[in-house]
This record gives sequence, C-alpha cells and structure tokens, in this order.
Amino acid sequence: MKKPSISRQLAEDLVAASRILAQHEVLDAYGHVSARSDKRPERFVMSRSLAPALVTAADLMELDADSEPLPGDKRKGFLERYIHGEIYRARPEVMAIVHSHSASVIPFGVTRSKLRPIYHMGSFLWSGTPVFDIRKTKPDNDLLIRDRPLGQALAGALGKCNCVLMRGHGMTVIGDSVPEAVFRAIYTEMNARLQLQATQLEGPIEFLSEEEGRRSTASNRGTLERPWELWKKAVSGRGRS
Ligand SMILES: [Zn+2]
Repeated sequence: MKKPSISRQLAEDLVAASRILAQHEVLDAYGHVSARSDKRPERFVMSRSLAPALVTAADLMELDADSEPLPGDKRKGFLERYIHGEIYRARPEVMAIVHSHSASVIPFGVTRSKLRPIYHMGSFLWSGTPVFDIRKTKPDNDLLIRDRPLGQALAGALGKCNCVLMRGHGMTVIGDSVPEAVFRAIYTEMNARLQLQATQLEGPIEFLSEEEGRRSTASNRGTLERPWELWKKAVSGRGRS
C-alpha cells in the first residue's frame, strides 16, 4: 500500500491522537481523527475503518477532496469520512478534525441548553456550539453523515465555529493542528460534564465572556505542547507498526 503523502511527524501525531482520544474515552470503538495533508492540502489523512485504540501508521489512508480513497486503495474507510472532507473544503484554515460520540455532550444536542465555556480549558467554545439536526437535511436518516451532501450540511452548521454538536449523535471539533483538535475534543467532553454538574447547584451559571474566551483560547494555544507531550508519552510504545 502506498504511504500517504504526509510528513512522518504528522503520521506519528495522527496515530498518537487516535490512541490518546481512546485513552481519554472521548473515542471508543467509534469516532475518528483526521489531519489535512501537509504535502497536498486538498487531501486529508485518517485511519481505515478501525477502533482508534488499535490504529498504527500502516492503517492511515489518504483521501481526496471528495473523501474518497486514492485509486488502488481497496481498504474500507470510515462511513462518516465526509464529515472531514467537507469541513476541510469549507474551512481552508482547518488542519485537523475530531468527530466523537462524546457522552456528556449528547444532552446539549437534544435540549435547549446551550453548551458554553464554563472554564478556561473549554474557552474555545466561546465561538458558539451550533446544533446540527440531520432531519432538516435528510428526514429519512440513520443519524450518520454518509455522503457529501450531509457533510456539506454539517460544515454549513459548523460555520465559523470551533465545535458543532450533532443531535442524537455526537460532536465534531476543528483545530489548526492535530494537538489542538485533540485538546478541544477532550475539553469539550470535560466542559460538558462540568456544565451538567453546575446545573445541579444554585445558578445562574457564570460562563466565560466572549472576550475571556478569545483571550484564553490564545493562551491555551501557547501551552499546547505541554499536555500534548504528556498525552503522547502515556500512549507511546503501544502497538507500533
Ligand atoms: Zn459518528
């Protein structure tokens, strides 16, 4: 199998990202992480259809701008790869994407309660957390983003935000690097958990202001290497290809 046209560093980051997200229980047997190719920016790379904890570099597949495997690659890709392809098309600055079925996020996709930044680690949620309702695009659906039109509709719902919730399904976050997308996936789950806890206490809840959200997002970018190094170390040596 031809190797994806990405740098070795990016391939290593993607493998680590899959394993980190599985270890943090943001991904289980389902969900996926992808990166825009750093050599051919119209393409992206993600693992073949496989539980994220088992991913090795040999499982990475290069997909074209329409989310289809390159000619000759007969491996089975993820059904929902169109989530990634259509967001990369709509948002040229996006370099990495995580799609998960993160449990604590689900209530916010099926109620009127908005997921909002409750602490600085979730500050990137200042951008808003729109809810994508697949029924509006496809009334006869199975909740999955199985084709390009559904991927386009999801990308449209995401708009300029950092996170989109998917009714009765999960969420998708974007980042300008693999570490940032992983960070955001982990802290979207934590923010949701903390927000649910805070609703049990006397309110109203004091969320971060938009200005605090912007400033804190910039600060977190500056220290991303620290958690990334720690998380990578915790999964290193497992299942090298
Ligand atoms: Zn899904």
